[in-house]
Amino acid sequence: MKKLVVITGASSGFGAEIAKTFNADGYPTLLLGRRTDKLEEVAKDMDNVMVESVDVTNYEQFENAVRKAEAKYGKTDLLVNNAGLMLLGNVQNQNPQEWQTMLDTNVIGVLNGTQIVLNDMRDREHGTILNVSSIAGRKTFVNHAAYVASKFGVHGLSETIREENSGKNVRVMMIAPGAAETELLNHVTSKSALDDYRAWEESMGGVVLDPEQVARTVKFMYDMPQEVNIREVDIAATRQD
Ligand code: NDP
Repeated sequence: MKKLVVITGASSGFGAEIAKTFNADGYPTLLLGRRTDKLEEVAKDMDNVMVESVDVTNYEQFENAVRKAEAKYGKTDLLVNNAGLMLLGNVQNQNPQEWQTMLDTNVIGVLNGTQIVLNDMRDREHGTILNVSSIAGRKTFVNHAAYVASKFGVHGLSETIREENSGKNVRVMMIAPGAAETELLNHVTSKSALDDYRAWEESMGGVVLDPEQVARTVKFMYDMPQEVNIREVDIAATRQD
């Protein structure tokens, strides 16, 4: 049997597509997210799949779910740290709780997942951690201050963890997508920030990434031999500025 793939934020968007892509290729797959009904819907036609309701900011919950899947399918060979939130707003008036939630989910969630799988990967000298960042991890956007901070953080921590573990043959990869149609904008509470974002998308001709294109790229990155680490891929609609 192929090795275990763990995907956070698998209940919608990129994570759901990444889960489908790996499972369809025969990988036992652990789907993590908070909404069990949505996870079960994604998993309904899959074999060798486990669904666990997990908040990635809760280390213990996260670790228990991974260990449960590993007891059934063997050690994790790929962790996709994909769970994330983008709560747009201007620093002048955004609720600070939104900054906290984004930093906890987008940064601490990634660190939690990494530590949970890393020691076994180092012992086996095999394994891949793939973090989903964003173009907003490389350049700034108005109304995105805390989100940009979190994704610049993902870029920085990914490269640091890669350097720390390259000698143990553990790969740390990062994909930085541009705008895509998912549930990401559903949680934005600032109407003006949301309007600005939609106007920006329209200014690029309204063409954004399809989550399936991101999933296909993730699969390509992982399918390289363990000795080859595609450290970073930036992928965006051609018309995105
Ligand atoms: P979605 O909102 O569709 O998916 C986000 C996923 O993260 C959901 O499955 C959600 O599941 C999960 N999630 C959020 N918070 C938590 C948490 N605390 N614990 C566990 N799971 C959580 O958006 P996308 O698919 O677009 O987002 C996926 C990643 O891609 C994010 O990191 C995002 O920043 C990044 N990204 C998205 C872009 C876009 O334009 N869409 C562009 C660039 C990067 P649940 O609610 O069930 O917990």
